Parts: sequence; C-alpha cells; structure tokens
Amino acid sequence: MNIFEKDSEFIANTYARFPLALVSGKGSLVYDENGKEYIDLSTGIAVNTFGIADESWIKAITKQLGAIQHASNLYYTEPCTELAELLCERTGLKKVFFSNSGAEANECAIKTARKYACDKKGKDYNVIITLKNSFHGRTITTLAATGQDVFHNDFLPLTDGFVYCEAGNIKELESLVANNKVCAIMFECVQGEGGVLPLSKEFVNAIFDIANKNDILTICDEVQTGNGRTGALYGFMKYGVLPDIVSTAKGLGGGLPLGATMLGEKVKDVLTPSSHGSTFGGNPVACAGAVDILKRIDENLLLQVNKKSQFIVDSLKNASGVKSVSGMGLMLGIETEKDASEVIKYCMDNGVLVIKAKNKVRLLPALNIPQELLEKAVDVIKKGCAL
Ligand SMILES: *Cc1c(COP(=O)(O)O)cnc(C)c1O
Repeated sequence: MNIFEKDSEFIANTYARFPLALVSGKGSLVYDENGKEYIDLSTGIAVNTFGIADESWIKAITKQLGAIQHASNLYYTEPCTELAELLCERTGLKKVFFSNSGAEANECAIKTARKYACDKKGKDYNVIITLKNSFHGRTITTLAATGQDVFHNDFLPLTDGFVYCEAGNIKELESLVANNKVCAIMFECVQGEGGVLPLSKEFVNAIFDIANKNDILTICDEVQTGNGRTGALYGFMKYGVLPDIVSTAKGLGGGLPLGATMLGEKVKDVLTPSSHGSTFGGNPVACAGAVDILKRIDENLLLQVNKKSQFIVDSLKNASGVKSVSGMGLMLGIETEKDASEVIKYCMDNGVLVIKAKNKVRLLPALNIPQELLEKAVDVIKKGCAL
C-alpha cells in the first residue's frame, strides 16, 4: 500500500486531504515525495510562523530537548516561565495558562469567564455570547461556542450557555445582553475559518462599551490571528482595545503544539490550584521554541508583514477573476469568480500551496517569506484566478 491507501485504511476519515505527501522543506519552500518544489502559503494553517526548519527555532528547541523534554506542571521549568513573562510584557495581560491547542486555550478562557461570574455574581451568570460564523474549536464546549450549525448537528447535546450574535449587529448584541445572564462576549478579530472576515472597528468598540457597562468579560480568540499574523503582535492591538482574556495557539509554537490563555487584571487570579490543569501544557521544548519565535516578532518584522500584505492586496484586488480580497496582514482571503477549489488545484499543480476558507482562497504565508517567492506565488495565483 502507498501512503494514500494506508491513510485511508488506518486513519479516521476526518480530513479531506490534498493528494500530496509533504516530506521536507526550508523556509517557504516545501517538497513532496517526488521531490517537486512548492512555495508554501499555507504554513500548516498559520502554524509555521517562520517557515519550515527555521534555524534559530531548531536551535532553541534542540537545546531544550537535550536538557529535559517534559517535566509536568508539578515542577518549574525555565522556558515556560520565560514565555509567560514575555507574553505579559508584550500584551499588557497579567498571567498565562498554557495548554497544547487552540480548543484547549479557549476551554480555559470559557472556564475562567464562568468562574469569574460565579464568584462575583452567582452561578446563573453563565451565558457567553459568541458570533455567528465564528470558529472556536472541536471539543464539545468549543463547538458550542462556534456559531455555525454545520459543526453542531451530529453531536448534540452540546454544552449549554452559548448564544450567538451576528457580527457587526450592535442592536442584536444589546438585546442578547439584556435578555441573558451574560458573563462574557467572545470573538475573533478576523473570522478565519468563517472566510477571513475582519470585524469593523465600530463593532469591536461596541463590544467593549457594552462589556464595560455590564461587568461582562471580553474574550478575544487569537488562535489564528495571533503572533504577528495580522501585522500586529495580536489582532486586538490593531483595534486599540485590551481584552480581559486572550487565547492563542497555532503560530505561537512555530510548529510544535502549544496553546496559551492570557488573563487580564480582572481575571488573573480567578483560577485557583486544581481548578484547571494540563499534563502536557507548557511543555518546555514547545515553550523554548515559542520564546525564540516571539522575540523575533518585533516592530521591524511587523512592518514587513504589513508591507507584504499591501503588496498582495494591491496585486490581486483588481486582477482578472478576483471579486474581492479580505483580511489583515498575512491572513488574507481571495473571493474568486471560479470555484476556490479549482484555483487551489491550479496553484498546487503549478507549485504553490494555498488553502480554503469557506468559499475563498486563503493565504497564510510565513511571516518572513522572501519577497521574490511571494511575487512568484502571487503570479501563479493571478493566473489561476484568471483562467
Ligand atoms: C484553529 C482555530 C481554533 C482551534 O484550534 P485547534 O488547535 O485546532 O484546537 C480555535 N479558534 C480559532 C480562531 C482557530 O482558527
């Protein structure tokens, strides 16, 4: 059996994989089992922040790998503490809980919000408002948080206590707050899986106004938008707000599994010993890599991210076969006249890896993609859209 046959025989059928087995890579170039080269604008879904086999990151993780690979949270390890300090210094949030994925980072955010309200206002203040068309993960609770019925249908009953507001609809938000005992409002600055759709400044301001007036917590899901992806260290920074809770994962570990839930002043001491935990969370190897990644997401890199973003938008927005370009930084969605899947296939056949988000072609290149590779890739995408 070849790899495709073995996969279909032995791996659960949860993924519609592209017919491509990736073997190795360097930076923004990746190679399949036949040695064919691709420019990678998918980065394992916004995970490989500095591309593949990045030297500085490899050095950081191998050093830690040779020292101690795992200790559990019964003991202290240096990389975990260093990463937490760095995250707090750079965001203005106060404490961090580490986990291994986006869904887990959101679970912690949800538990924290519920406990905050339970301690302060009573058990029945447990409702969390999330947005329609959002995506927050695949566990039963983060599925409940996800405002898309297609993900729910086969798995009912889900966790209670979630109501959904249309993104941008301030009236609906006000009415949901008035009619429910709400503890938090949870949102992505840019809905990623929902089709790369940024929230308007006006709506984000309304979320914070309404939350402040009603002692409701704000939870920003930065699992995809975080760690430099939007051209700011975290997406909320582009809106000039400071959420009470920020969850992140994907790009934080640069390729190793790592989730973080950052807790602001109001909630930093809500979680108490044994109220939450994780065996693998804050793994020292993953954290050592993340320290290296985070230190390199500086002003200069973010400037480059914004420039490259502008280059992509300018090249594609009026191109033949392109209806619109949405998103922020190096998280962009192209609405195409043709079916997005056809464009994605054309790109793959012609040496460029891009992925889908709803009906759009989604671009998530490495934050340090060389300009000449980006130009080559954009030329291929343009041709794919025009055909
Ligand atoms: C990917 C994603 C998640 C889920 O992350 P996992 O690591 O797959 O659990 C949650 N929220 C957002 C916004 C995401 O993009």
